[in-house]
Amino acid sequence: MKTYWLCIALLILSIKYSLGEIKNGYANGINSARVSLKTLYALLNDHTMTGGQKKAINAKVKEVVKYITAYELTQNLLNQFRIIAPQLYNEIDSIKDKKGRITDVYIKFIPEEQALVQAWGITGIDQVSGDPDAYQSEYGERTVSVKVWIVSKSLVVLAHELGHIKYVVPNMAQYVEYHVRNYRPGTTESNHVGHNPSDASGESALTFERKFRESYASYLKNGRDQTDSPRVLADKIRREVMSRAQTVDRLASL
Ligand SMILES: [Zn+2]
Repeated sequence: MKTYWLCIALLILSIKYSLGEIKNGYANGINSARVSLKTLYALLNDHTMTGGQKKAINAKVKEVVKYITAYELTQNLLNQFRIIAPQLYNEIDSIKDKKGRITDVYIKFIPEEQALVQAWGITGIDQVSGDPDAYQSEYGERTVSVKVWIVSKSLVVLAHELGHIKYVVPNMAQYVEYHVRNYRPGTTESNHVGHNPSDASGESALTFERKFRESYASYLKNGRDQTDSPRVLADKIRREVMSRAQTVDRLASL
């Protein structure tokens, strides 16, 4: 009986991983961040630590809390997006390139001060060498990386970026040629790049943005509450992460 269930579980897992997916860009480091936080709090309870050592540990705690907060905020916002606009979410969650290969989309919501480019949302465009139809990013081959600032309209910005992706992933080779012809080398999708009047990716971004706004309006009409501003949400999550870690630490030291 157990084997039977194991097979079912494996089957479900393999189905899950055989599809392209929207993924939290912080997921890879989250387990080690959680372990680090526990270890750091335990160290803070060590009374042999000097003031200088504790100061260094507190600085590290701040960094790790920031990472966990960013992960949880991204989870929360992706979830909100899926509830508000399930159709748009699913279109990107199952996106494939021109050759029908799955392409994963990694998303990170980032604080403004971490942004390398002055744009609310940014999606890198990079081809796999020798495979012009395949997308790649810092997450590997057949992946897309999206970064969205934590601002009041983060979900609209995400919809916009996903609209670019909706067009570019299945038209990669052709779009890169268009991009090279029309924009300065080395530029990526930003507030302006990607929006020539003849740019189909820009048009798709605006369509996604409009559809998201419409979905959000009908979400509110159905009596749902206005969602928290991502900045307010980030503060709330940060406080929760801190108090959770402190509680776990207190229980462990009892
Ligand atoms: Zn754009």
